[in-house]
Amino acid sequence: MNKIRFATVWLAGCSGCHMSFLDMDEWLLDLAAQVEVVYTPIADLKDYPENVDVCLVEGAIANEDNLELIYQVRKNTKLVISFGDCAVTANVPAMRNMLKGGAEPVLKRGYLELADDTRQLPDEPGIVPELLDKVTPVHEVIPVDLFMPGCPPDARRIRATLEPLLKGEMPAMKGRDMIKF
Ligand code: SF4
Repeated sequence: MNKIRFATVWLAGCSGCHMSFLDMDEWLLDLAAQVEVVYTPIADLKDYPENVDVCLVEGAIANEDNLELIYQVRKNTKLVISFGDCAVTANVPAMRNMLKGGAEPVLKRGYLELADDTRQLPDEPGIVPELLDKVTPVHEVIPVDLFMPGCPPDARRIRATLEPLLKGEMPAMKGRDMIKF
């Protein structure tokens, strides 16, 4: 039997959703036996591959790198899951949307006002990914197949999502988008 080609990506988030993924503890061994992990920030894999079956997307879309990766994810993945509140609603990273002036006030605060030593805005292209003016949830940029809310989603909810998928079934839904556990 072919293993599920499984990926996780980390966009604008704190990595807490990935930490909760690791909280599935010994069930991770069962999961590892049934999937082929083809992309994840937990391993040093550079390019998002083709023909991915399932991808968990942590984080909102906040910069040009996030944007480029999420388009790759959608193009090459059968089932895209918004993984955690930052992906589902933009959550904490979107707090900067309340400031007027797009990304500029955030850059000024981080690189000038709070800097101890070198006070300089990032001006060399490619060194720091350019911030988008507004932070958005994943589904505002690409179509998303399932939503897994939580900050972070409980490890039981993550398992309840993945277990049916391993059997070729869709997870049970509670309400419009939430995955029951
Ligand atoms: Fe972190 Fe919560 Fe966002 Fe997950 S949803 S990346 S735990 S802030």
